Amino acid sequence: MKINHHFLDLKENYLFSEVGKRATAFSEAHPDKRVIRLSIGDVTRPLPPVVISAMHGAVEEMGRAESFKGYGPDRYCYGYPSLIDSIRSSYARKGVSLKREEVFISDGAKSDLANILDIFSGENTVLVPDPVYPVYVDTNIMAGRKILYADANEQNGFLPMPDSAVDADIIYLCSPNNPTGAAYTREQLAVWVNYALEKNAVILYDAAYEHFITDPELARSIYEVKDAERCAIELCSYSKTAGFTGVRCGYTVVPQALVREGISLNKLWARRQSTKFNGVSYVTQMGAASVFTEEGERQIEENLNYYRENAKIISDCLDGLGIPYTGGKNSPYIWMKCPMGMKSWEFFDFLLENANVVGTPGSGFGKNGEGYFRLTAFGTHENTREACARIQKLLKKGSLS
Ligand code: PLP
Repeated sequence: MKINHHFLDLKENYLFSEVGKRATAFSEAHPDKRVIRLSIGDVTRPLPPVVISAMHGAVEEMGRAESFKGYGPDRYCYGYPSLIDSIRSSYARKGVSLKREEVFISDGAKSDLANILDIFSGENTVLVPDPVYPVYVDTNIMAGRKILYADANEQNGFLPMPDSAVDADIIYLCSPNNPTGAAYTREQLAVWVNYALEKNAVILYDAAYEHFITDPELARSIYEVKDAERCAIELCSYSKTAGFTGVRCGYTVVPQALVREGISLNKLWARRQSTKFNGVSYVTQMGAASVFTEEGERQIEENLNYYRENAKIISDCLDGLGIPYTGGKNSPYIWMKCPMGMKSWEFFDFLLENANVVGTPGSGFGKNGEGYFRLTAFGTHENTREACARIQKLLKKGSLS
């Protein structure tokens, strides 16, 4: 028996475990201090009432013989048509038309991001923006794929564009980006789509935060760009949109027009899912189906606005201190430059010890993240205001150099 030795190529500590470990150690050593966490990207607002009511209704149905449900419908890889149609209607509002067979329901974007790799050869070269959500890199390390990086930095506004001299087969794009909060315009995405078509590559487009976009210039789906259905798979989630981090539901769009080596990737993914996955619970799917109804949209917008207000509080604080940052406008993440030339972990410790505020060191998201720091808008108003007041006091203008 041999283990998968590629696992040994992973960095020992997953970023958020290390952040948690240091924050907990500090709290234990200083029980008198109230530590505020603006670090992990989990939500704090409860589920919208429309979701609760839909889930209650589904539980009642499960309790009656005449409406009880077992496995979901085979035809759509266990996704219920009512949920798939509500997702299609949300795409239609963005001007994108999808067939039922093109939408796959899952228990969240993280699993799909990892599982989708099953349909691609291990020999493919992968292009990943740096910095970005660590799951893209780690899942490809586990599979032993060659990884290239597209540098995201201050010069390109943390939005790398393709380099025609670089040959890639699988391209990850995340917009709005975690951790930088930067988001692509349609024009910029069109350049990526053309590059992918030219290289015969496939884009894995992570749109987990698309609901935070308010600027009409920015794309909310890669399919808003012409010909993207011939080169892109889009992965989405209810986690940040509707507070489903603990409920678990997401969806992946694999267009039927996406064909490589004469084979439909939609068919490969359907085969993969029907073989290795048995679907998302009926109760969860009915909760998710309520999200894109008129009332659902109104209620999730209330929660999104709550987080947007936090993002504004953090942005105003950094503006007042003259600290450069990206994000915070069409994204729940604020990506700030560490003051006084500090490195990411150095600033992490400095902020924890002196303001008792926890953020996420940018270096954990890739080498270009060194010297940067991520704050999230997913906390409560009270904690966000308090954390900002402490940051303001610690770093007040004039004391920074
Ligand atoms: N994609 C990005 C960019 C994320 O930041 C996250 C979660 O933080 C996910 C995907 C995973 O979301 P889910 O909860 O749907 O698995």
